[in-house]
Amino acid sequence: MELERNHNASVLNDASPKNSSRLGPHSGLPKYPTSAAVSSSSLLLTIPGKKTGLLDDVRSTGWLDAMKSSSPTHMFPNDSGTELTENDIAYRNWMLKYPSALASFGKLTSYAKDKKVVLFLDYDGTLSPIVDNPDEAYMSNNMRLAVQNVAKYFPTAIISGRSRDKVLEFVGLTELYYAGSHGMDIMGPVSPSTNTHENCVRSTEKQGKEVKLYQPASEFLPMIDEIYRSLVEITKEIEGSTVENNRFCVSVHYRNVEEKSWTTIAELVHDIMKNYPRLRLTHGRKVLEVRPVLDWDKGKACEFLLKSLGYSNSDNVLPIYVGDDRTDEDAFKVLRDGNQGFGILVSSAPKASNAFYSLRDPSEVLEFLKLVAMWKESSAPQL
Ligand SMILES: [Mg+2]
Repeated sequence: MELERNHNASVLNDASPKNSSRLGPHSGLPKYPTSAAVSSSSLLLTIPGKKTGLLDDVRSTGWLDAMKSSSPTHMFPNDSGTELTENDIAYRNWMLKYPSALASFGKLTSYAKDKKVVLFLDYDGTLSPIVDNPDEAYMSNNMRLAVQNVAKYFPTAIISGRSRDKVLEFVGLTELYYAGSHGMDIMGPVSPSTNTHENCVRSTEKQGKEVKLYQPASEFLPMIDEIYRSLVEITKEIEGSTVENNRFCVSVHYRNVEEKSWTTIAELVHDIMKNYPRLRLTHGRKVLEVRPVLDWDKGKACEFLLKSLGYSNSDNVLPIYVGDDRTDEDAFKVLRDGNQGFGILVSSAPKASNAFYSLRDPSEVLEFLKLVAMWKESSAPQL
C-alpha cells in the first residue's frame, strides 16, 4: 500500500460516504451535510519490499512530501478585522464541511439525548500540545481535571500511539481505560463478551482494580525490540532524531531534525524495513512509526472497547472519538461506517478526514470536554 501523493492535500475530495445520513437511520439522528470521506488506507504510508534504489523509492512513494507536510502549519482565521489570508479562507471553507464541535454543541447534545455517550480521546496533539521533546508532552492540570470530570459521567478511554504505560503516566487517571501502541495494548473493562478473544487475559492493576488486557500483537514483541535497537543504532548520528519504544510499535521522531537530513532518515528507516516484511511503516506528525502487519488499529480498539462495555451493535450508545492524527482516521471511519457515533478532528489546518466535526487545537478540546461535563451536570440524571 503506497502513500497517495495528495494524501494530505488541502484541496479536499468530495467522495461521498457510504451512507447519506451521517449517523445512520437507526440512530434517530438528523441528516447532516456530506463530509469528505477518505479511505483510511489512503492515509497510511506503508513500505512494501521494493527492489528499486532507495532514494528513488523515497521520492516515488512521496515520502519527502509527506515528511515535510506531516505537521500542519499553524494558521488561524483572522478575527481581528484585517484582511483574510488565503489560509484563513481555506480554513473557513473547510469548516463548512467539518463544523466546529463547539459551535455545533447544541446539535451534538440533541444526538446524544437518551444515549450512552462513550468518549475516546487521543493523547498527543489532542489532550497535550505537540512539543519538540516527546518525553515532555505533558497535559495541563486543567485538561486533566476536565478529562477526570467527563470520566465521572461517561466511559472514557485514551487511545494513543504511545506505550500504554507511558500514556497512563502522562494522564495519571486510573479510572480511565487505556489503549496504547495504536490500540495493540488495551486495558479495558472485564466483560464476558470479549473474554473469548485470543491474547485476552484478566489482570489486576496496581490499584487493585480487575481489568482485562488485550494484546493482539504480543507475538511481535521480540521483533519490535530488535528493530527498536537497530533504529536507535542507525539514527544515532542524526542530530535531533529520537527513537521511542512504544512496546508494540516504534516511533522515529524527526521533529527536531534539520530538514536537509530528512532524506537520510527516510533512507535509513526504509532500508532497515526491508528486513522486516512482517512490519509496516505509517506516518504521523513528524514521526515515522513501525508497526506489526496486523489487522488491528485504533478503529478496531474502539470496537473492542465498545464490545467490552456491552455496547456492541447498540442503538443506544453514542461513541465520540477526538483525535488529531492519521492513525485516528481508522477510528473515525469505524464510527462513520457503523453509523454509531462520530469523530472530531483536531486540526488548525484544512485536511481531509473521516471525522464529522472539528476542533482547532487542544485548548478547544478542553473547552469541548468542559461543555460535555456541564451538559451532563445540567441534564436529566438518566443521561
Ligand atoms: Mg495525536
